[in-house]
Amino acid sequence: MSTWNSTLCLKLVWLLFAGSGSLWVAWHHHHHIKGKSFWSLKPSASDSWNWRSLLLLRPLAEKFLTCNIRNGKNGSFWLDNWHPLGTLIKFAGQQGPGKLRIPLLSSVADAFANYSARIPRLCSPQIVAVHDLLSTVHLTDDEEDHDFYSWLGRDSNLIKFPTAETWDSLRLKAPAKAWSSSVWYKGATPKHAFNMWLAQLDRLPTRDRLIAWGMPISPACCICSQFAESRDHLFLRCVFSEQIWKLILLRLNPVSLHFLYLVFFFWVDTAQLYHCSHGFKEVGGSGCDFPYMEAGEQFFL
Ligand SMILES: [Zn+2]
Repeated sequence: MSTWNSTLCLKLVWLLFAGSGSLWVAWHHHHHIKGKSFWSLKPSASDSWNWRSLLLLRPLAEKFLTCNIRNGKNGSFWLDNWHPLGTLIKFAGQQGPGKLRIPLLSSVADAFANYSARIPRLCSPQIVAVHDLLSTVHLTDDEEDHDFYSWLGRDSNLIKFPTAETWDSLRLKAPAKAWSSSVWYKGATPKHAFNMWLAQLDRLPTRDRLIAWGMPISPACCICSQFAESRDHLFLRCVFSEQIWKLILLRLNPVSLHFLYLVFFFWVDTAQLYHCSHGFKEVGGSGCDFPYMEAGEQFFL
């Protein structure tokens, strides 16, 4: 959830640079940015929580935002990421503006206008490298050819905010589960897939889990009242479930009903290789869904 929130907040940061023309963007430029660089702003005690959150996201946002230089009048020489060397203030260090006599808030065009061929004395190789790049980059003379910002997508820089790609690049990724293709597949019934997923993780609120959470309820199965209600019992061993599975298996591949849940899922996974795969997965999903829905109805009666 926090990754998703960060993604949506990064979109707000993007809007500040993309010049969307919205009232929200205009308000923040007027009250907070005030013609400065977003990267140079210092949080203030009077700032709203939302604005401080955006400022805290700057280290993350600068990994995605690139300034594409055209006439150099909007891009910040030291603070924007516009050159392959990266953000120049980080590359050259805090002494860079003083050594090169280029103020911290200079635009790229201002920096080129004040370019001096004389290399400053007693400075680091990084500052010399920044000095040298000033002689290699050329700006357009077109007043209308403005600098613009782009956002790093999966494969390239984009002039729009790719929400899904950004979220995907931020989230921690675990290897795909071996059973994922049996639960999530094109054409799956969403309700069946969701219940199948929860069942596979053993996260459905069956009575054994409700009791483990401290609920004072009977452990007996909602349907048969003869055995403790668990995932395996509800989906495979309950008298109601067995009736459903007998009807299903008679039409498919008669096998013993006496298997555990993990064996059952392995059976769904392998049997689909020899049958119409989508139909078989759907049968597995709906076979799991019916007992659970029936138990739910019994529980709330
Ligand atoms: Zn039962």
